[in-house]
Amino acid sequence: MLEAKAKGMIRHIGITNHRLKVATDAAESGLYETIQFPFSYLATVKEIELVKLCKKNDIGFIAMKALSGGLITNFTATYAYLAQYDNVLPIWGIQRKSELDEFLSYDDNPPALNEELTSIIEQDRNALSEDFCRGCGYCMPCPVGIEIPTAARMSLMLKRAPLSVCLSDEWKAKMEKVNNCIHCNQCKDHCPYGLDTPKLLKKNWEDYKRYM
Ligand code: SF4
Ligand code: SF4
Repeated sequence: MLEAKAKGMIRHIGITNHRLKVATDAAESGLYETIQFPFSYLATVKEIELVKLCKKNDIGFIAMKALSGGLITNFTATYAYLAQYDNVLPIWGIQRKSELDEFLSYDDNPPALNEELTSIIEQDRNALSEDFCRGCGYCMPCPVGIEIPTAARMSLMLKRAPLSVCLSDEWKAKMEKVNNCIHCNQCKDHCPYGLDTPKLLKKNWEDYKRYM
């Protein structure tokens, strides 16, 4: 990439990653202008340290999964939280035009991170323990066709996404596929968050059955 840059073929070099160690090494290497990494108000202390390291080293931080793949539903709180970090540019991952309009309106009138929003953030942090699936999809494909990024978060989605979608016939059939897991551990070996994915899938399937 440096050769291509020297020849004028590219102008900027950035990196995207889900692994904290890789991203931290990249931030310390002096080789990258931007780092794209998952970052939301559910971030751990170490992830916040990465943002600060990027600022110190003059690296732009592109926050992916700023809504944590649909688990964060309070847009005002997430905008106010991320706005604290002036080297962070979020990729919101919106689904509807109304959501785009809401975020654009915050660019004109930024919400303050007040007591009410801070309390919402705290509640979400308490509800979502550190071992939740981020929906990154690095574990895919599954040899028996389980849609892991959604199936491994179904318990959370049931509380946060429209029930008409979660409990549709389509999703009942998809969740049932968890029974077909052959425990090859391919998903577990590829998960950048070190999750025990097959165990998490089983737990989500049990919750789903109870819910139904
Ligand atoms: S362990 Fe189960 S869920 Fe994971 S990749 Fe293998 S079959 Fe799919
Ligand atoms: S199980 Fe791990 S790799 Fe798979 S989607 Fe969830 S966080 Fe990503």
